[in-house]
Amino acid sequence: MEFLDVPTVLKVSALFNLMAALAWLVLAQTFRIAPRAGRLMAAGHLVRIASQGCGDCMVGWPALLRQAVPEFGLLACTVLLLLALRRMLRSRRRPRDIAWVGGLGALGITAGLASGSGLLPQLASTASATVLALLAVREVVRGIGQQLSRPVTLCTTLPFAAMAALGIGHGAELLLVPGWDGHVLNGEWPTPARAVLWLSVTASITLSLIALMIWRVITRIQHLTYRDPLTGALNRRAFEQALGQAQAQLQRGHGFALAMIDIDHFKHINDAHGHQAGDAALQHCVRLWQAELREVDRLGRLGGEEFCALLPLSAPADLQTAAAVAERLRTRLAAAPLHWQGMALPLSASFGVALPAAGDAAGEIGLARADAELYRAKTEGRNRVCVATPLGAMAAA
Ligand code: GH3
Ligand code: MG
Ligand code: MG
Repeated sequence: MEFLDVPTVLKVSALFNLMAALAWLVLAQTFRIAPRAGRLMAAGHLVRIASQGCGDCMVGWPALLRQAVPEFGLLACTVLLLLALRRMLRSRRRPRDIAWVGGLGALGITAGLASGSGLLPQLASTASATVLALLAVREVVRGIGQQLSRPVTLCTTLPFAAMAALGIGHGAELLLVPGWDGHVLNGEWPTPARAVLWLSVTASITLSLIALMIWRVITRIQHLTYRDPLTGALNRRAFEQALGQAQAQLQRGHGFALAMIDIDHFKHINDAHGHQAGDAALQHCVRLWQAELREVDRLGRLGGEEFCALLPLSAPADLQTAAAVAERLRTRLAAAPLHWQGMALPLSASFGVALPAAGDAAGEIGLARADAELYRAKTEGRNRVCVATPLGAMAAA
C-alpha cells in the first residue's frame, strides 16, 4: 500500500464518518425513518472521528488525554452502534448486557490509565468492543435470523463478526508483540493497511445497518399493504392473492380447504358495550385463532366480523382434517371470553368449511360453498361447524 499513507486513510475515514453521520441525521430528522436508531448511529460516527486517531493532530495534547480519547472513543462508539442496532431490530430486551460490558470496559480503561500502563487501557477497550461486536452478531441472528434467508443473515452479521475478529487479533498483538502498544500511545497507526482494514469494517457495518433499515421499511410497507390494521390478519386483497396462489397449486396436487368464519351476534357486543369493545373482540378472536393455526395457514379478514382461513392439506381432499381445525378454532373461542372492563364477555363464531373447485382461478366457487355452509351453521343455531359435501361425492350420489 505504498500509494497510501496513514494520514490520508485517516482523512478519508473521517470524511466517510462525517458523511455517514449526516446521512443518518437526514434520514432520522427529515424523513423520520428509524429516528432514534438514526440519531444513535450519527452520534456513533461522530465519536468514531474523535476516537480513530488523527495522525499528528494530538501531538500537543497531554499524554493522558492522548491515550484516553481513542480508548473511551472506541468503547463509546461501539456501545452507540449496538444500541442503534437494537432499536433498528425493535429488540425489547433491556440493554443490561450493554451497560455491563460498557461499564466494565470503562472501568478497565480508567484503571489502566491510573496505573500509567500503556497496554491496559488498550486491552480493556479492545476486549469490551470485541464482546459488544459479538453481542451485535447474536442480536442480528436472533432479531431477523428467522425472517431472512441464511445468505442474507450471513451478509448482515459478517461485518460485526469481522469487527470481533479484528478485536481478537488486535488483543493478541497487544499481548504477544512486544512494544505494539507504543504505536497507539504515539497516536500512530502501525501500517496504512491496518487503517484501511478498520475503515472497511466501519463502512461495511454502516452498509449493513442501512440494509437493516431498508429491510425494516420494506416489512413496514408490506404490513401496511397486506395486513388489516385493526387485527393484523391478512386484508381482503392479500387473502385473495393467497387464494389465487393456492388455486394455482391445486393443479399440482397441493390441496387446501377454506373455513369461512363469522362471529355470532357481534352487533350485540357493539350495541351493549360500545364499538371499542367490538374492536377488542375482533383482536381477541384473531389472536386466539392465529395461535391455533399453523405457519402455513392463512387467516384473512374479509370484512366486518367475517374471516376466512385458508388451510393447506397434506392429502388433497382431506375435509375431516379441515373440519377438525375449524372445530378447534370454534372451541378455543367459546372457551375464552373477552375480558372487557372487568366483565367476561362470552364470544362464539360459526364456521363453514369447503374444498375448492379445480379450474376456478380466483377461488370463488370454494368461497361461495364455504359461505353457504356458514349460512347453514347460522340457521342451525350458530356456534358450530358445518362442512360441505365434497364435489366428487355429490356427483357420485
Ligand atoms: P350473526 O350472528 O348473524 O352473524 O349476527 P351479527 O350481529 O354478528 O351480524 P351482523 O352482520 O348483523 O353485524 C355485524 C356487525 O359488525 C355490524 C357492524 O357494525 C359490526 N362491525 C363491522 N366492522 C366492525 C369493526 O371494525 N369494528 C366493530 N366494533 N364493529 C364492526
Ligand atoms: Mg356475525
Ligand atoms: Mg357478518
